[in-house]
Amino acid sequence: MNLLIFGAPGSGKGTQARLLEESMRGVISVISLGDLLRNEVASGTEVGLEVGSIMRTGELVGDPLVCEVILRQLRKMETEGFLLDGFPRNLPQAKFLTVVLELLGKEITAVLKLDVDTDVLVDRLLARMVCAECGSVSNARFHDGEACGKCGSTNYARRDDDAEAVIRHRFSVYEVWAAELEHYYGEKVLLIDGNRPMDEVHADIEHKVNCLNN
Ligand code: AMP
Repeated sequence: MNLLIFGAPGSGKGTQARLLEESMRGVISVISLGDLLRNEVASGTEVGLEVGSIMRTGELVGDPLVCEVILRQLRKMETEGFLLDGFPRNLPQAKFLTVVLELLGKEITAVLKLDVDTDVLVDRLLARMVCAECGSVSNARFHDGEACGKCGSTNYARRDDDAEAVIRHRFSVYEVWAAELEHYYGEKVLLIDGNRPMDEVHADIEHKVNCLNN
């Protein structure tokens, strides 16, 4: 089972990817390109120094670099299947992935596309808080200084690229590549209504993925 998940910034794809990984433990591993790049930035690696300033503007990082990072991660994977979050994000990346998977004797099983209304997205992103210790995401409206439910840390931060002007720019970047990818993957795309509560969206994704098995 080799899956892709994509959706606009704030659509909940990272959260849904982790929930699906948990319910399909040992079957798929999540590879989140955004998280991998943020780790590089936080560790001050050569890659991190190159991509940090680009990420803060909401622009896409160059294809050669992200393709290399993904390839490295695909080779390291411990499960048979994967769920890619944040890659591919344009046609050249999608074509690169197709070739790499062919070489590995794999192919994409399905593509999950999370659809969420723009107003809901802006609201969510302006309130998004990320635990500085374990990376789990919460919402400032429900998060009133209490400790992270996952690791107990009280050290919460906002993402650099969650400022309103950058959010709007990320949306316009997203709209262009989302249309291209939807066309490229055609019938493999499964549309998910992401306007619903997190658990409902997860149940829907789980159901659709289970149907792929039968
Ligand atoms: P995300 O966490 O998926 O919202 O990604 C955060 C930022 O990382 C994006 O705004 C881009 O600057 C960069 N990024 C993530 N994935 C890609 C990709 N596939 N291609 C280019 N840049 C990416």
